[in-house]
Amino acid sequence: MQTKLADFISGTADGDEAKAILQACVHCGFCTATCPTYQILGDELDGPRGRIYLIKQVLEGAPVTRKTQVHLDRCLTCRSCETTCPSGVKYGRLADIGRKLVEQRVQRPLAERVTRALLKEALPRKWIFTPLYKAGKLFRPLLSPAMQDKLPKAANAGKWPRREHARKMLVLDGCVQPAMAPNINAAAARVLDAFGVQLIVAPKAGCCGALRYHLNDQEAGLDDMRRNIDAWWPLAQQVEAIVMTASGCGVTVKEYGHLLAHDGAYADKARRISELTRDLSEIMPQFEAELGSRLKGRLAKKVAWHPPCTLQHGQQIRDKVEGVLRAAGVDVMLCADSHLCCGSAGTYSMLQPALATELRDRKLANLLATGPEVIVSANIGCLNHLQSGTETPVTHWIELIDQALA
Ligand code: SF4
Ligand code: SF4
Repeated sequence: MQTKLADFISGTADGDEAKAILQACVHCGFCTATCPTYQILGDELDGPRGRIYLIKQVLEGAPVTRKTQVHLDRCLTCRSCETTCPSGVKYGRLADIGRKLVEQRVQRPLAERVTRALLKEALPRKWIFTPLYKAGKLFRPLLSPAMQDKLPKAANAGKWPRREHARKMLVLDGCVQPAMAPNINAAAARVLDAFGVQLIVAPKAGCCGALRYHLNDQEAGLDDMRRNIDAWWPLAQQVEAIVMTASGCGVTVKEYGHLLAHDGAYADKARRISELTRDLSEIMPQFEAELGSRLKGRLAKKVAWHPPCTLQHGQQIRDKVEGVLRAAGVDVMLCADSHLCCGSAGTYSMLQPALATELRDRKLANLLATGPEVIVSANIGCLNHLQSGTETPVTHWIELIDQALA
């Protein structure tokens, strides 16, 4: 797609990147068929091809309106369109660049500005979010059903292993996960300990930066990334990997190298941190044989696996969780339309509740049609969002392995 950048963006890093992405798009529309928001709304401008066209107009200097902002807001950034695209169009990066420009030109209504400011300030900061979350749980009965759904009962984390091992890996604690599901990282630490790997937390690391970056406060998001790099760097020589138990964080940390490529002080470190980063599902396959012999089929459950978009589209990781669970004796099922988003998508479920609920209910109907005892996933957002719509337990896949090994 030929693009003539307007003067305000021509010659900038964002302009060059956006132009290269646009040039790859041949406007074929294959991506539209696998776009969840297009499937629900049926509007070309609520599909990837239409959104790409809107962003192209912004880059070429056309007037930017609230309508453009609304269509870009409705995008989940699930990147299903990237997996489908035969031309390798990096839609996610183009959407980030386009949204930043639109945010600078279109003022949002007051209520939206307040909501987004609260999300940006509270969610990435553990010292704000954790007490708020605890207070919310205390007063749960007084809250609306919709709010109650957002406050799952967190499983007790249990003990963090104390043994030291020669093999060491860092793990990201993240922002909301320690309060909402502290058992996930503890379960990962116990499982890896059982296979001779010590999991370490760098206390000063926090939110991966995705929350603020994708709420269009990109500078604040980059600051979160720099803080994590500073926290991990002294340990980076001692560990073989930085493990992510939330695929939404993993996809972002793997992009630190790209996002900070123009930061003279951080570019090299950011690239190294991204190289070291692995989703937990990339670590566990090396232990499959031992896992199988230790469990000897003890984990014979019927499980529906929901692969998060940030894993299957963002990181292009497929089949690994299924392989580990099968080695543990689990009957793993993928549901119909497993490539589609569940509607969680970071803060999307709070900012676009109607679309998010529709997508959740479609996803749950497909997952439950497989007749599972348990639904498993690999991202805190998906886990909470899906659990809010079903009585069937929804859990992180590593927690199943942890329970069986215990
Ligand atoms: S993004 Fe890819 S699939 Fe979609 S219209 Fe462009 S070239 Fe076609
Ligand atoms: S990222 Fe997802 S919601 Fe957004 S245009 Fe692509 S497929 Fe559609």
